[in-house]
Amino acid sequence: VIEVVGVSRRYAATPALLETDLAVGPGEIVGISGPSGSGKSTLLRLLAAIEPPDTGEVLLGGAPAWIRRYGRRRRRPPRPGYVMPVFQNPFSSLDVRWPIWRSLTEPVAVTRRVSRAERRTLAGERLEAVGLGGLPLDAMPSELSIGQCQRVAIARALAAAPAAVVADEPTSALDVTTVAGILPLFQRVAADGTALVLVSHDENMLRALCDRVHPMAAGRLGEMLVC
Ligand code: ATP
Ligand code: MG
Repeated sequence: VIEVVGVSRRYAATPALLETDLAVGPGEIVGISGPSGSGKSTLLRLLAAIEPPDTGEVLLGGAPAWIRRYGRRRRRPPRPGYVMPVFQNPFSSLDVRWPIWRSLTEPVAVTRRVSRAERRTLAGERLEAVGLGGLPLDAMPSELSIGQCQRVAIARALAAAPAAVVADEPTSALDVTTVAGILPLFQRVAADGTALVLVSHDENMLRALCDRVHPMAAGRLGEMLVC
């Protein structure tokens, strides 16, 4: 579903990612753990084709995510909703000016024609799936806790029925009970064939959930741990 081959990325003097390879197949749950600054978020941004690598290739569904034109990399004709990101900061996924039903269903509305009524129904279903069934569809992000916002962000990523979800610390803002409710949801989504890449400091959680976990240190993926 997603493959990166020999990707590197540096920011000014900081080499954030060095010659990294990773392939994630349908239904696989892959974990990435590692200390702060080791390049985990950088790798996720490349996997989601949010930014291009300096070197190497990013393949989405077997096709290059970037093409070179006039020496600069451009995104290929976009594949909306193919890889859905869940960011470390939930406010990166939600538009603070919009009620949550709208942010939640925006990726779906980009992919296909849906009426406002359908969007609201879908939003209600997706909120239910992340344990937020009681939340008003018209709630604004500023009225919610960080943990609730993160769950809306997860619901948003899943609502578009993507081929892959890449999630950066999706559970770090959630209490243990809520995490226990979210993990089976990730497992169900993977069982339906969606590829999942999860970054977390919580190696125990990753080992319990993932097919394999890659420790990351100083811009490199380490030996993979089979779970
Ligand atoms: P954390 O666990 O704290 O989220 P991380 O493993 O996600 O850390 P990255 O965010 O990928 O780490 O950062 C890797 C390195 O690249 C760090 O040294 C960071 O300062 C640098 N870096 C990342 N993004 C940028 C950017 N947009 N501009 C400048 N430097 C950056
Ligand atoms: Mg990070």
